[in-house]
Amino acid sequence: MEDDELVDEALRESRILLTRDEVLAIRARKRGVDVTYIKSEGAEKALEQLSAELGLVLDPTQSRCSKCNHAVEKVAKADVKGKVPEGTYRVTDEYWACPRCGSVYWRGSHWPKIVEMLRRASAHPASI
Ligand SMILES: [Zn+2]
Repeated sequence: MEDDELVDEALRESRILLTRDEVLAIRARKRGVDVTYIKSEGAEKALEQLSAELGLVLDPTQSRCSKCNHAVEKVAKADVKGKVPEGTYRVTDEYWACPRCGSVYWRGSHWPKIVEMLRRASAHPASI
């Protein structure tokens, strides 16, 4: 998405624009967008900053769709048969789906690492 499109969408939807692009941050602020300029490299430091500056509650169970940002909803295992890899379906019982775009999510092998990273990020908001 081009910078102007990002700014237009942020204004239209009253969003907070998160960016590591300092020039975009300055341009967006001039147009009245609420901007958080991400100063740090890496996801964990960025989450610490967001936790501290925006007061975000880093709760991995309150997830949104990574493709369209809609809130995901828990769905029955039977509803995702054929929509997830067979190996995943065999070993995983809990699933969430996005009612807007149909994306299906589950707690994969990376889940414990994500939870631990969010726990660390929200536990030390003053270290930014
Ligand atoms: Zn979606």
